[in-house]
Amino acid sequence: MQFIVLITILHFAFADNVNSPSVIIIGAGPSGLAAGRKLYENGFAVTILEAENRIGGRVHSVKFGDAYVDLGAEWCHGEEDNIVYQMVRPLGILRHSNYDYHLIFSDRNNVDESFDNELDELYDSTYTADGNRNQSIDTTVGEYCIRIFNSTIREKWGDDKDKFRTAMMCLETFHRYALSDEGSFSWLDVPATNDYRNCEGDLEQNWNGRGYKTILEILLKRFPTADKSFRLDKRIKVNTEVVEVIYEEDFSVALCADGSGYVADHIIFTPSLGVLKHQYKTLFRPPLSPRKAQVIEELGISAVIKVMLHFPWRWWPKGDFTGWTFVWTYEDKEMLPIEFPYGPIRHDQHWLRNIMSIYRLEQNPQALSVWFTGEFVPDLELLDEHILIEGILFMLNKFFGDLYFIPYPDKMIRGDWYSNPHFHGTYSYQTIIAREHFPESPNLVLAEPILNKRGIPRLQFAGEATHPYHYSTVHGAIETGFREADRLIKIYK
Ligand SMILES: Cc1cc2nc3c(=O)[nH]c(=O)nc-3n(C[C@H](O)[C@H](O)[C@H](O)COP(=O)(O)OP(=O)(O)OC[C@H]3O[C@@H](n4cnc5c(N)ncnc54)[C@H](O)[C@@H]3O)c2cc1C
Repeated sequence: MQFIVLITILHFAFADNVNSPSVIIIGAGPSGLAAGRKLYENGFAVTILEAENRIGGRVHSVKFGDAYVDLGAEWCHGEEDNIVYQMVRPLGILRHSNYDYHLIFSDRNNVDESFDNELDELYDSTYTADGNRNQSIDTTVGEYCIRIFNSTIREKWGDDKDKFRTAMMCLETFHRYALSDEGSFSWLDVPATNDYRNCEGDLEQNWNGRGYKTILEILLKRFPTADKSFRLDKRIKVNTEVVEVIYEEDFSVALCADGSGYVADHIIFTPSLGVLKHQYKTLFRPPLSPRKAQVIEELGISAVIKVMLHFPWRWWPKGDFTGWTFVWTYEDKEMLPIEFPYGPIRHDQHWLRNIMSIYRLEQNPQALSVWFTGEFVPDLELLDEHILIEGILFMLNKFFGDLYFIPYPDKMIRGDWYSNPHFHGTYSYQTIIAREHFPESPNLVLAEPILNKRGIPRLQFAGEATHPYHYSTVHGAIETGFREADRLIKIYK
């Protein structure tokens, strides 16, 4: 009886040709769409199952004010060896983000331009996203940066008490910055040496108000002109959360929360490392190997949050203004819980100290983006909207209230990547323990497909966290989608 009930709800992956091998792709983020595109082009019967009510995953551009803003991925990082850049370059959309964040101080005692530039250089010489630092395996990026920072400021300003003190105050700000690349809650959680590699070329290219969603439109052949014969979009089922993945000797099955089930020759699993961490014990039948389980446990994923504010008018400077980076003085840090006692405060840490920067948005003259990094991000996704806005306004007034009249925002949106069960985080990072246990590459262990007795993959893994050195990025995610599609194409050729 149970068998009959199961059969009635099973779908077989769509096929134009009954002889086409069938593939279920779980997740319609960049990696899932990339895998889908390549397999579809090569005649595979593709079905993409997506839990959210939209495609794109951690690429989520929304119309806000005059242009699209990105709650998830925002910049194309680099040019060489970057699949996003290669696909987009002929279209001439990308623009250099000329971000020059001025350091501003809570006591309004701002530094002159030349010292500001020197502090900027200090940051650049202390930290880069590229993890090629040749440090011992147990050194954290925090320990490494603090060491470089301290020796540099001693050497540069050891004889100038004021500059030395000012530079010391910037360390916390630099930490916040580094976290936006590392994606962790503390730089003491991530190794100094890791496999992440920057792509050569411009590291901060924006989409000129079109949003990162442009890459999804390109993958689906809807942009720059719509190819009506290419109907991968018809193979995507949104609002379809997979709750169980079964891999057998000869076929694979995805069972969904709505009671439906899909059978295919292969499954490619693309949800985030955060989803795997929360669900790997219950999601897969038979259970994943201890090696796979271990790498899922040991790789890292935390979160950042962007809060977009739209104002009734533009109150910040015009011209070449791009944004601010905030530095709290020691005295103001102490006063903060007294001056703004709302929202989460823990171990003397106040959530407003988690603001990394505020910057203007392309083609959006009345909107600002507020980036928070660090341990309060999960709280801030859920914090009462009014307290969140009041806190940001308190901070702006504190840092330069006498310069501008700052109105209450008329719109606000924010990300919820950490609390959303379809993501459980923003982007992955390597940890000391994962690198120690899987020295060849923890990300490639995560990527290993599960093969049947004849060596045919029944369950494959794609997604940013499975890239050996472009993890945490969209270009990395897309490359892994193509990689898994190629794995199947090669078998059938
Ligand atoms: C705030 C933020 C800023 C970022 N900034 C940048 C940037 O500037 N540049 C850059 O290159 N990268 C950036 N990234 C990282 C980039 O967005 C990701 O690396 C990339 O989108 C990951 O793609 P993916 O396909 O691996 O995973 P995802 O995009 O997470 O796609 C996986 C899909 O699986 C779906 N799913 C989950 N569980 C299930 C289930 N059970 N059943 C069915 N479907 C499921 C999800 O809903 C999702 O759509 C940023 C990310 C965030 C969140």
